[in-house]
Amino acid sequence: MDGLVARICNCTKCPLAETRNTVVVGRGNKEASLMFIGEAPGAKEDETGLPFVGKAGTMLSTYLSSVGIDESSIYIANILKCRPPNNRNPKKDEIEMCTPWLVGQIREISPKIICTLGNYATKFILAKGNIAAMSTIDGISSLHGKPINMELFSKELIVFPLYHPAAIIYNRALNDAMERDMLELAKLHKETVRGPVS
Ligand code: URA
Repeated sequence: MDGLVARICNCTKCPLAETRNTVVVGRGNKEASLMFIGEAPGAKEDETGLPFVGKAGTMLSTYLSSVGIDESSIYIANILKCRPPNNRNPKKDEIEMCTPWLVGQIREISPKIICTLGNYATKFILAKGNIAAMSTIDGISSLHGKPINMELFSKELIVFPLYHPAAIIYNRALNDAMERDMLELAKLHKETVRGPVS
């Protein structure tokens, strides 16, 4: 993982390298069985070099602790490693250039469950990294909270799509669904780590 992190930190493949303050690689347990994937760093992440440390991160931490998922047992990364100016949406060519880094992280961490936060992460993962196929994947409002078994980068795992915490900041009506989904995720996580309860 260390070699990969160094290469990500030195990346200049796309123009976001010129506007970023720091490269936001990821944080958490590199042997995690549960990995979260968000969209792209915001201002606070760009400042600190860590993903999900701003408002959306605080919200994610609250949801995790409310269902007893210890943050030290998970790994969090993003689709894009550098902040898009003014937090605009990721562009297709940025996703294309940046996501080989994420694929490397997924291969190294080898999680049993990938939790995708929002549309970009969900579509990228369910399209198995095929950028052109992302547009054929349903939106997060129909996919959230439903586990999907799939083979991803040569490994069987479970993908569990969730609303992006930032979406809930703007639309509080999504909070109930998020709370329900988090309970499901905690159950799935327990079963996956320890085996099903008989
Ligand atoms: N939103 C994301 O998708 N990722 C972060 O790291 C912060 C906010």
